Amino acid sequence: MDPLRFRFRTIEPTADAPTYRRQSGSCDDKRLQLGSRHWDLGDLAAVERDDSRLLLILNASDAPPQTCTISVSRIDPAELKRHLDVQRSRIRAERNRLRLATGERSAPFRQALCRSCEATIDLTGFAETPQAFCPYCQTISTVQPGVSPAANETEFRLCEVCGMFSRPQSFTSFYFYYLVVHSGFHARRTMRCPACMRAAAWKMLAANLLFVVGVLPSCVQLTRAYRSSRGNGEFAGLDPANLRARRGRLDKAIEGYRQILQRVPCAAGIHYNLGLALYTQRDLPHAAAVLELALADCANYEPAYRLLLRCYEQMSQPDQLQTLSHRWPGLSG
Ligand SMILES: [Zn+2]
Ligand SMILES: [Zn+2]
Repeated sequence: MDPLRFRFRTIEPTADAPTYRRQSGSCDDKRLQLGSRHWDLGDLAAVERDDSRLLLILNASDAPPQTCTISVSRIDPAELKRHLDVQRSRIRAERNRLRLATGERSAPFRQALCRSCEATIDLTGFAETPQAFCPYCQTISTVQPGVSPAANETEFRLCEVCGMFSRPQSFTSFYFYYLVVHSGFHARRTMRCPACMRAAAWKMLAANLLFVVGVLPSCVQLTRAYRSSRGNGEFAGLDPANLRARRGRLDKAIEGYRQILQRVPCAAGIHYNLGLALYTQRDLPHAAAVLELALADCANYEPAYRLLLRCYEQMSQPDQLQTLSHRWPGLSG
């Protein structure tokens, strides 16, 4: 394959700004080259993106773990992250398959392809369920043959602000300020669900009303916030149900979620939202029961697993806690 070529600047751990020197980088299906340094993609344990910056965590078997933050130019950083995730997930899954074939572990190897980012999801050790969670792009894919997925299921994931399963979109908050001798603006990009977009857009408009410059971007974001629910497709009604769940009106929220589940029978994210709302209201037994349903739809759905662990811990149920831990490969030994 043709290597992906880009330019980058390193950001030192103690500095906020990138170093001045711009260097060349490239990446093929095996190696990542950053200036004079290069790494095997299978040793890349994590890749996190924040706008144009990528945080890389490298964990080679023969060296201590190290981190590296770079500011990327010439190509879309999202494209580079996706490329790194597709290649490193493929290599790591293949390594695991070989390990199992040589008898180091006893579980049968199983994998699925993420329908959103095309990363390889290693499902070895997990129960077979209709859906699989992609730890690389945080979406849920319906992978069981014969179960038809919702057309736009890969657009849904947890909102960065409220933490609910929704269809988050890029939202830039923009605040203009004028301080007699100095004026400027502050902008920040996040991925938020429509409900969180609306709240932030109204706040933005109120804060920018004093200064004409900030009113137009506020109005643009407000319009986007009110239009963004239209593309939910088979998940129509999710945003109002989430809002009701957050406000504690669970009977109304459940009604909305039930209508979605009639259209989308396998939807771990919907069960997760209900579990989260019940957990917030301290109804731990019902929260645990609903989160078990989320894991029955998607055995490796990590957000549901972590919340369920907390439920069992707080309910002081060591047996359930131990059983649950054994269902998560890597923790059970
Ligand atoms: Zn993915
Ligand atoms: Zn939200």
